[in-house]
Amino acid sequence: MLQNFSYLAPETLKDLYAVLKKGNGKVTILAGGTDLLVNMHNNWISPECLVDIKKIADLKGISFNPKTGLSIGATTVCIDLINNKDVKKHYPLLAEAAHHIGSPQLRNRATIAGNLCTASPCADMGCSLLALGASVELGSTSGTRVIALKDFFTGPKKTQIKKDEVLLRILVPADMAGARSGMRKLKRIKGHDIAVASVAIARTAKVMRIGVGSAAPTPVVTADLAPSITLDKAVAATEKVISPIDDVRAGAEYRRFMVKDFVEQIFAEIC
Ligand SMILES: Cc1cc2nc3c(=O)[nH]c(=O)nc-3n(C[C@H](O)[C@H](O)[C@H](O)COP(=O)(O)OP(=O)(O)OC[C@H]3O[C@@H](n4cnc5c(N)ncnc54)[C@H](O)[C@@H]3O)c2cc1C
Repeated sequence: MLQNFSYLAPETLKDLYAVLKKGNGKVTILAGGTDLLVNMHNNWISPECLVDIKKIADLKGISFNPKTGLSIGATTVCIDLINNKDVKKHYPLLAEAAHHIGSPQLRNRATIAGNLCTASPCADMGCSLLALGASVELGSTSGTRVIALKDFFTGPKKTQIKKDEVLLRILVPADMAGARSGMRKLKRIKGHDIAVASVAIARTAKVMRIGVGSAAPTPVVTADLAPSITLDKAVAATEKVISPIDDVRAGAEYRRFMVKDFVEQIFAEIC
């Protein structure tokens, strides 16, 4: 049974910021609720107040500008990304990653921002957005700040978001538009399941990055690699950033093996 909580649904960012500031950490942001409500239902968390952000116009929508890149508003759900023509044309890796998330019901509800804010090591949008060199814009009464996604995750389920902040939008750089890319996700079953290991690679004429999920305490990414890098060196760069563990879903050695295998598979396609 769900515990009692109050519910607010501001319609402007100004009102949201005020609620978050006044709540002083006792107010929890509700987006799609696909993580939050499961956690509440299981009594793992018991927020006093939920603040629903879905009515705020400033947090909606996806826009693309060839000079500044892609902006993904905080209330964008997976299916919006999958169906967006600019995403399909310029950043197909993101549509592919969003397609890996859960079931059709889930993809109609779960937000991309929520997937990052949950900060699960296996978050499917994590490795793909890291490979594309994305950053996140955070806002509060103190103003806005932009953080590179590679610095956003600080541990399992932990991020740099302060108590009074909201993730406003995800920014993907213009110079990654048109990148050659690919993603692989290993699951325990053929149906929908979270990743046992996942790899996403994006490569332009100037840079290549390899993002990895479920193989470290957070989604991780290699340093910027030369697009002409050899496969052996790309594998070595990937192994440098992962630190897989044994858990109920897989052993560390299996994860390590599959990450290498996925790098090899995607490398063969895009290099
Ligand atoms: C059956 C099932 C299958 C799933 N399968 C997958 C899968 O295959 N791959 C995968 O990666 N995930 C999977 N998930 C996890 C989940 O659906 C995603 O993490 C989802 O994207 C979270 O988004 P949401 O909008 O539902 O977030 P919510 O549940 O609303 O919020 C999640 C957390 O983020 C915070 N938050 C949300 N938005 C913001 C914001 N803008 N600013 C600050 N904080 C914010 C909330 O306060 C909360 O702590 C699955 C979940 C379920 C229940």
